[in-house]
Amino acid sequence: MPGTLFVSDLHLDASRPQITRLFLDVLDTLGKDADAVYILGDLFEIWHGDDDDSPVGHAVMYGLGACVASGTPVHLLHGNRDFLIGEQFATRTGCRLLDDPARIDLYGSPVLLMHGDILCTDDVDYQAFRTEVRDPDWQRVFLRKSLQARRDIAQAVRMKSRASARDYPESIRDVNLDTVARFMTDHGVQLLIHGHTHRPGIHQFEIAGKPARRMVLGDWYRQGSLLECTPHGCRLRDIVPV
Ligand code: MN
Repeated sequence: MPGTLFVSDLHLDASRPQITRLFLDVLDTLGKDADAVYILGDLFEIWHGDDDDSPVGHAVMYGLGACVASGTPVHLLHGNRDFLIGEQFATRTGCRLLDDPARIDLYGSPVLLMHGDILCTDDVDYQAFRTEVRDPDWQRVFLRKSLQARRDIAQAVRMKSRASARDYPESIRDVNLDTVARFMTDHGVQLLIHGHTHRPGIHQFEIAGKPARRMVLGDWYRQGSLLECTPHGCRLRDIVPV
């Protein structure tokens, strides 16, 4: 039994059709049998707004809609690449957009879900950028531009951030563990599930003397990273395209 499925950082786009197919296959098989599917952000490499007319976008929306129609609730958090997924996308697919962080009940235990970028508080420049582009006024102005203008701006931002990423030590782009502990304490959870860092793993530690866990999903660049949770526990595994 697949239980509840968590994925993150699929970064779907036209350059990796085998990965899009793998995800659609997961939705169609495991997803339809699952209790719920949670997508923890960066489903798309980039989402320019709900009028985005990319073929990958259409295929994925269709797959998500079919999974929801089969009876599996699909929940979606924004990532730093697809934060412009909006209400139209949710309405057309039947997916539920969740706030980041989102506190859910997982078989009787409270669990905190995040994309993970909020936890990278050592990257001060990124946090400033995030504050700017998550502002509803900024988004309203941006979404009034033509789709082509938005594509051009997004492309320029990506080139710039790729260039500046080379100047940063790796550690700055990982989560800050004090921030992790603060979010978990504030939300009263012993388990946090997130993505974003592309460093899959299960970390065990203590918060105020009590055992705590942080499960980090990997990206979908070459294979798929999947966390399956049942009432008996969670398993993090990779699935490969056929
Ligand atoms: Mn991300």
